Amino acid sequence: MTADADSLQLINPALVEVRGGGAPRLVGGQCRACGARSFPRAAVCTDCLALDVDPVELACEGKLYSYSVVHQAPKGWDVPYVLGYVDLPDGLRVLAHIDAPAGAVAIGQRVRLALGVVGADAGGAPLSTYTFVPA
Ligand SMILES: [Zn+2]
Repeated sequence: MTADADSLQLINPALVEVRGGGAPRLVGGQCRACGARSFPRAAVCTDCLALDVDPVELACEGKLYSYSVVHQAPKGWDVPYVLGYVDLPDGLRVLAHIDAPAGAVAIGQRVRLALGVVGADAGGAPLSTYTFVPA
């Protein structure tokens, strides 16, 4: 289920930025020396081993490279769910929840970034993270 940014308890808030209730953006890294990008932001550039990797907003639309339907998950996570790899125009392949029923997902389809509830913590509070939805 997609969610409103104001009501979210993000699993890892460092991965996503939401400005003024607008559309979410993934925050990756870009190497100052060679320009290589990473997601999540790498502490050391995986291409040239430089230590200067700046935060960078990534594209919010991409193409579904592949996916699987997950039936087993940690306690509290909603199953089944679709887990996929999304190719961004930034040259990155991002692993993410695909917030759609398996029957509505196809390899090669356009998807856009969203925020979604993927389960609940031990106290019943919703757990949210970045997801992709059909564009
Ligand atoms: Zn580099």
